[in-house]
Amino acid sequence: MAKRFSITRYAKAMSDYIPYGRQDINQEDIDAVIEVLRSDWITQGPAIDRFEQAVANYCGVKYAVAVSSATAALHIACLAADLGQGDILWTSPNTFVASANCGLYCGAKVDFVDINPNTYNLSVNELESKLAEAEKQGCLPKILIPVHFAGQSCEMEQIATLSQRYGFKIIEDASHAIGGSYQRKSIGSCQFSDMAVFSFHPVKIITTAEGGMVLTNYEELYQRLIRLRSHGITRNPDLMQGESHGSWYYEQLELGFNYRMTDIQAALGASQLQRLDEFVERRRFFANRYNQLLQNLPLMLPWQHPDSESSWHLYVIRLKLDKINKTHRQVFEELRSTGIGVNLHYIPVHIQPYYQKFGFKLGYFPQVEKYYQEAISIPLYYSLAEETQNKVVTLFQEILL
Ligand SMILES: *Cc1c(COP(=O)(O)O)cnc(C)c1O
Repeated sequence: MAKRFSITRYAKAMSDYIPYGRQDINQEDIDAVIEVLRSDWITQGPAIDRFEQAVANYCGVKYAVAVSSATAALHIACLAADLGQGDILWTSPNTFVASANCGLYCGAKVDFVDINPNTYNLSVNELESKLAEAEKQGCLPKILIPVHFAGQSCEMEQIATLSQRYGFKIIEDASHAIGGSYQRKSIGSCQFSDMAVFSFHPVKIITTAEGGMVLTNYEELYQRLIRLRSHGITRNPDLMQGESHGSWYYEQLELGFNYRMTDIQAALGASQLQRLDEFVERRRFFANRYNQLLQNLPLMLPWQHPDSESSWHLYVIRLKLDKINKTHRQVFEELRSTGIGVNLHYIPVHIQPYYQKFGFKLGYFPQVEKYYQEAISIPLYYSLAEETQNKVVTLFQEILL
């Protein structure tokens, strides 16, 4: 009896709980998955090709490689760009750990570029001065991973200019940003980068449950990515080093992985992609609504760069702590205890214990550290109702004023 009571209470609590983000799966999505389950292919098959083609068309990029997660996508993107021992990778400290870990997987060193306090993306000014210093010291990065935080593009044109001057490659971590654009081109077009990576985790813009993708305009990188996601093996006779022994023959040419996506996931992804514009439009609507409803509170609201149209993966506010009689932690915990699933994106990667082992310390990247003491992500997702949003705003007012 006691157990049943607690389950009921849990269900009640969950139904009142407003998460910071969640997926939206409709009947067409479900039908698309069922169709694959009834077909002959459930692992990597025709649905993968269709999904890759559809994303590539949407983004205006030549090649797309679907994989099991964005983490896997970042890993093989780094390998395809020849990142290895003795090399250096730079990224933003305001990101999920995966954007930095991919460098470590390859045996490279990882370092960070502090953020722009308005966009929360890596600062181009910081990047420029850090590059000049690194050139003097002889420790320039081989790869830069700009992260399009919350769905807003980094200043890619300026970053690309610096990459030409200093010779590093660019892999965009666009995990938040499918459906967004930069200078009126879809994020993922790779106009200013070598590769771009999407995540299809359920909290992101569209989902395949788990899943990710690498996009590129370079055929050579594409062939390498295809190989790396499947054990380093090729079945294409044109790419083999020796003669084929027969129609069963394949060759392993390098050390790869099993990072494949299933057709079940790809069918879900392709179905979700058809709703992408609708998803983003709705997110934009709620973001604009928050901008209106929160404007008189002691908060710093998200600032948008004129070159970028965000996909609005996250709506992040910063507390103006000098105008509030509570600490950041108090405000956060009070919001959570009233059933608002706030979150904090992100704990700066360099202060993670694992990264401190490499010598990083609190104080190294002051802008992101200050941001971390003020930021809160509040609920934003496709199916958020206006009523629910009003409730979030009211509770927020009560806590702050
Ligand atoms: C979610 C996320 C990832 C990792 O994505 P997975 O698909 O879960 O592996 C990487 N980078 C950023 C910025 C993310 O938000």
